[in-house]
Amino acid sequence: MPASVPKGEEGAAPPFAARARALTSRSALLDNLAALSGRAGVPLLLPVKADAYGHGLDVVARAAAASPHVWGLAVAVPREAQAVAALELGRPVVLLTPPTPQEVPVLADLGVRIPVATLAEAEALPPHARAHLKVDTGMNRLGARPAEAVAVGRRLAERGVLEGAYTHFATSDEVDLRFTHEQFRRFQAVLAELPPLLAHASNGGGVLSLGALPGMGLARPGLASYGFVPSHLHGVLPLRPVMTLQAQVTFVHDVHAGETISYGGLYTAPRDLRVATVGLGYADGYPRNATLRAHVTVRGERRPVLGRICMDQFMVDVSGLDVHPGEWIEVWGPADINVSEVAAWGDTIEYEVLTGLGARIDRAAVP
Ligand SMILES: *Cc1c(COP(=O)(O)O)cnc(C)c1O
Repeated sequence: MPASVPKGEEGAAPPFAARARALTSRSALLDNLAALSGRAGVPLLLPVKADAYGHGLDVVARAAAASPHVWGLAVAVPREAQAVAALELGRPVVLLTPPTPQEVPVLADLGVRIPVATLAEAEALPPHARAHLKVDTGMNRLGARPAEAVAVGRRLAERGVLEGAYTHFATSDEVDLRFTHEQFRRFQAVLAELPPLLAHASNGGGVLSLGALPGMGLARPGLASYGFVPSHLHGVLPLRPVMTLQAQVTFVHDVHAGETISYGGLYTAPRDLRVATVGLGYADGYPRNATLRAHVTVRGERRPVLGRICMDQFMVDVSGLDVHPGEWIEVWGPADINVSEVAAWGDTIEYEVLTGLGARIDRAAVP
């Protein structure tokens, strides 16, 4: 859970504010969901794993539950399933990775849909459970291979607990889609041997590159729902980044020409500079590898981050701007710097930057 203002009782701690906040645009999220569902031709099973890709599980789950295009919410681990179930949004929650045997009855009682890949798992489900058969069509991560999947699915159907079946594409975000088509063909062959059910396969890459797929009842676009797509798929849909990340200026001072800034003295001021220190660092998920490449937006202007990014702070050139402690700067957002750029500066990918955002950052929804 994001660090938030302690609530309540007499003598409670004063309301110390977070130094950074991740704002989720509800309208951007809802527009993205409508566009993706339209392209897939089916409702969405929206992935909200990893704190909704860093946006905040509660914030995103509540906003998404207002969308007519969202059937349910997908999570990676049982704790996330429990957190979504506790919100009582009236939307199914689907767990995507195997629970332990001890967790199965608890999840079933919560109404969480359980992934099943073996006959032993199928037999062990309580009678009120609802299962989604997991078929491994080539990712080789989880699931029953097609030859075994049919028997597992039939047993689940006999027991009256089979609600859905799914597979996961390994290369759908690449230009060459031959293996994705092969995976889908294998999945269809399994489905042909089973009674009608709620089938789902496409992640974001699948939805964008393949569109509607025959026989599917749901699609699971994750990163695309939050507004990011691989570069070769830009323009397929008008998706918008959902998150704006802001951080607070904590100190402003002058640095003289020839002085260095931050650890290691990597950066030397070429002239007298006005420098703002900002309360966000690599402990919050701002990539340390973006050192000497990163920029942020201050009062609408793109300004460089100076010297090493620290654990809890970084410094920015605000020369010529009348910046004060307490003011918010934009680390990324729809207007200027986007997460793809930050990921490139940090030698990583959007998924890792977003999901790496730490618990000290507040999460909130904005219109
Ligand atoms: C994470 C995940 C998704 C979403 O993937 P994106 O690449 O973010 O669209 C879909 N299905 C499964 C099983 C996943 O683990």
